[in-house]
Amino acid sequence: MRPSRPDRRAPGPGATRPSGQLAAHVAYFRELGVSGVSRDRVWRLRPTDPEPSPATAPEPVAAAQPEPCAAVAAGAPVELSMFDQVAALSAATAEERLRLIREELGDCTRCRLHGGRKTLVYGVGNPDAALMFVGEAPGRDEDLQGIPFVGRAGQLLTRIIEAIDLRRDDVYIANVIKCRPPDNRNPQPDEVRTCEPFLFAQIDAIRPRVIVAMGSFAARTLLRTEDAISRLRGRVFEFRGARLIPTFHPAFLLRSPDRKRDVWEDMKKVRSILQAG
Ligand code: SF4
Repeated sequence: MRPSRPDRRAPGPGATRPSGQLAAHVAYFRELGVSGVSRDRVWRLRPTDPEPSPATAPEPVAAAQPEPCAAVAAGAPVELSMFDQVAALSAATAEERLRLIREELGDCTRCRLHGGRKTLVYGVGNPDAALMFVGEAPGRDEDLQGIPFVGRAGQLLTRIIEAIDLRRDDVYIANVIKCRPPDNRNPQPDEVRTCEPFLFAQIDAIRPRVIVAMGSFAARTLLRTEDAISRLRGRVFEFRGARLIPTFHPAFLLRSPDRKRDVWEDMKKVRSILQAG
């Protein structure tokens, strides 16, 4: 088991000694595939620091509008009466908008996935987050606890978030699908079509600046493309007013740790966009 990342915010009696903290940080970043430390000023800025100068701000990446994915493009839209009201509540807080969307979901039986779930997994995190992570669907642990990304993959996601000097509580985490598919099978197109409007409403409620789509399913669903994640990652897309960055799913990283370096590169891009404002 890897050592947990030291909590720099709460030193106290019994806290890890500085040399131990440094060793833990080095081991952690090595695990992510980081082989060096940038001297770029952007990387020394924290989210609350002043914006970097234009010379250090990241280059904007061309927006892309992929072709609709045949698997999810067809079919009638779901009737979401409350969503019009949510959209109209432009003066309401993001927290309030999220609460209304959750109320609209209710004890949802709109698709067959409701039959196998223990808990509907809505989403968790800061309603005012500048950064949002989107995965595929709940797994066993998430289904039991009602919280997205709480298993081993979730622990790795937490460390990925902390690698860019954010806490899990700073971001918002949700899935395209809110109920666990049986045996973790891939969600079917009609299930996606039925459930994805709620994710889109969550995105519209939170209005993040950056969305990280984790894994092939989330990236392909959001971008309406059938391209492989290996072709999508490394690029930045425009999506519902945010920059969307596809990257590998943490569960995939557990099986293929050699790809952590790619995710680290993607997260550096996320960090640069957030810093650039
Ligand atoms: S997966 Fe989505 S649409 Fe289907 S039952 Fe669950 S919440 Fe409702």
